[in-house]
Amino acid sequence: MRSMERISRRALVLGGAGAVALGTAGALTWDKGSRLWWRLPGVDKQRTEGEVDYPGAKWVPASAANLRTADRPDDYAVDRIVIHVTQSNFATAVKVFRDPLHAAAAHYVVRAGDGHITQMVRELDVAFQAGNRAYNERSIGIEHEGFVDKPQDFTAAMYESSARLSADICARYDFPVDRTHIVGHVEVPGTDHTDPGPHWDWDRYMDLVARSRKNVPGARHRKAVE
Ligand SMILES: [Zn+2]
Repeated sequence: MRSMERISRRALVLGGAGAVALGTAGALTWDKGSRLWWRLPGVDKQRTEGEVDYPGAKWVPASAANLRTADRPDDYAVDRIVIHVTQSNFATAVKVFRDPLHAAAAHYVVRAGDGHITQMVRELDVAFQAGNRAYNERSIGIEHEGFVDKPQDFTAAMYESSARLSADICARYDFPVDRTHIVGHVEVPGTDHTDPGPHWDWDRYMDLVARSRKNVPGARHRKAVE
């Protein structure tokens, strides 16, 4: 049953992330109070301020002008991760994504010094990050603090933290860890952006993602539906 699948998968996606990030109370509140929301197509879904999709991420909302609210993965399947480099420091990246005039934002921003992750757009929403509508709709964007011509910006902490995030996304949406599904912004059709640039170590990154993926329970949200 399509409608029941929608309800249970959404509840699991949000409840699962919320349970880890905010404690059990948030998930229970969601399950008891919000289940009927999912029966209503086209209705804005309830958002809980501060909730994140990835445990450990800190929520700093992007401007609503830099995203489109959606109901992924029910309206658009998620099967891509787009890797970016900010071409700025971390604070500036967060600041511009909060600026309604910037016209762009990514779901996540990873800090170089310590691998800290800030989430700015919920995964169910479409972030304006890839410069390609279809890719925006199907992907989750991860920004990395640094400059494409400064390889020293790409720290071990950042690679490792980002790889754990990517592995978690691959597991939750059940798509493979490979370079078809994890792409650089430069590889998005029609883009004029060059990030993450020639110094981004794809072999190292993909190896880290693959290793982290083994530690993530397989496709945990979907399994519970079936
Ligand atoms: Zn980019």
